[in-house]
Amino acid sequence: APSVPARIEGHAHEAPQATAVSFNGHDMNWETFAELVRYCAKNLKERGIEQGDRVALLLTNRPEFLIVTSAAAAIGAISVPINFRLAAGEVAYILNNVTPKLLYVEQQTAELAEAAATNAATQPEVIDCDTADLLEATSYPAGKLDDAELFIPEAGDDFAIIHTSGTTGNPKGAVISHGSISMCASKVASRWGLRRGEGVVMLAPPLFHIGTFLASHGALVGGSTSLVVPSTGFDPVQTLETMKRFAVTAAFMVPQQWQMLCAEIERVGGEGLALTHANWGGAPASEKLLERMKANLPGTEVKASFGQTETTGYGVGLEFADSLRKIGSVGKPENDMSVRVVDPDMNDVAVGEVGEIVYRGVGVMSRYWNNEEATNEAFRGGWFHSGDLVKRDDEGFIYVVDRLKDMIISGGENIYCAEIENVLAWHPDVADVSIVGRPDEKWGEVPVACIIPKDPNNPPDLASVREYLADRLASYKHPKDVRIIEAFPRSGIGKIQKNVLRQSVQSAEALAD
Ligand code: ATP
Repeated sequence: APSVPARIEGHAHEAPQATAVSFNGHDMNWETFAELVRYCAKNLKERGIEQGDRVALLLTNRPEFLIVTSAAAAIGAISVPINFRLAAGEVAYILNNVTPKLLYVEQQTAELAEAAATNAATQPEVIDCDTADLLEATSYPAGKLDDAELFIPEAGDDFAIIHTSGTTGNPKGAVISHGSISMCASKVASRWGLRRGEGVVMLAPPLFHIGTFLASHGALVGGSTSLVVPSTGFDPVQTLETMKRFAVTAAFMVPQQWQMLCAEIERVGGEGLALTHANWGGAPASEKLLERMKANLPGTEVKASFGQTETTGYGVGLEFADSLRKIGSVGKPENDMSVRVVDPDMNDVAVGEVGEIVYRGVGVMSRYWNNEEATNEAFRGGWFHSGDLVKRDDEGFIYVVDRLKDMIISGGENIYCAEIENVLAWHPDVADVSIVGRPDEKWGEVPVACIIPKDPNNPPDLASVREYLADRLASYKHPKDVRIIEAFPRSGIGKIQKNVLRQSVQSAEALAD
């Protein structure tokens, strides 16, 4: 597949007046977008950025994000989007890890960047997007990158480094190649029906996260409009209005966000939506939610993607045609991806048995940046180990069972959280539920149900939960405790942070003892 900058040039040539980026009611066409990418690329060169150098972005959602990453790619530099919700020490860790020459910030993140820099060994040059007007050609006195200067990437050249959230120790920087992003973005474009001058992709969750990063590249590669939504936190009322007003055709969000959107549609109606593709992923969705999405989004193809930062956000997907027949499945591996489902000794497990999914293919990251040990560990036996437990049915459809690190081992039996969550989601008094393990003297570990009740004045108790599960799940899977909570701790993109939840359940327990 052609590189991302080459695709942008193609759109500018063939559909110069079509909208490339829409932000806060302002549209930018492909001609202007491609020009700005060339200006910005030249500017990077002027500042001494060379092939293989890192360019870091500590930015909320704004058009500059797309311009800088595309400009970096156009000269062979490597983009490093950083989560702006991290603490200064965590940002410092990432800066030390990747030693960028340049760091793009904005008013909102400048303080964080400064605090991080005091702890960092390397001091990148800082550019503030709120003062340097990167959306105006006049801000670039050195002019544009010319054709001869355009970097022609090989598939294996580094494109971006995206750090995993680090729920298991220090963040690791997954290196995404030009080949991975082009291929995965092309897949997204074709799955979402994106064509040059057609389609509007809503980019609402933060762009630094692989899910949104990939979605934005789907739009860049496909030639559709990127509707960049400012990062002010997810608001279902606003999101639905935005989708209607800007005739959004495709969106990727985590299940929680789709759930909130469905509730809003149930409240005000979905008339006026132009959505043709609703893609969920990033975390498990209950069958209850999938049915709700189908009911509330009648003209929309609901699709799943399953993957992680290390697989460029994607690797396995469920297409609309199979979505009713295989409800609960995340689908099949993309055709360039090979997967195996294996036991700890790398033997393939039988159909229907639980094992770890391991990957091979163009979409898999090249390595962890500057971390050979973690790279070797992840690629042991020549396959990338995902840390995800899945089952495959006799047609090869994959069902996510749990993450290895969240699985509960109780009295020698494996307990998969998603299985319990899926059943409890239907409990009449439960609005949302997450299961975590708690150490237990007798059983080693036991499941605890953290529940957001439908009615805070009438929350379900342990007896009602166990009664509900009585003939639905084996008794060793029944939670031994119920915690009623108001909200789950959530990561930047909105996923439940099970490690944080587990910690709070365990420390509450310690207090009670
Ligand atoms: P970390 O790996 O550091 O904890 P993270 O959760 O933010 O951070 P990501 O790469 O964003 O890392 O998440 C990938 C994980 O999300 C997958 O390994 C898988 O467990 C889960 N996941 C992604 N898509 C789905 C899906 N469709 N269904 C169930 N789980 C999913």
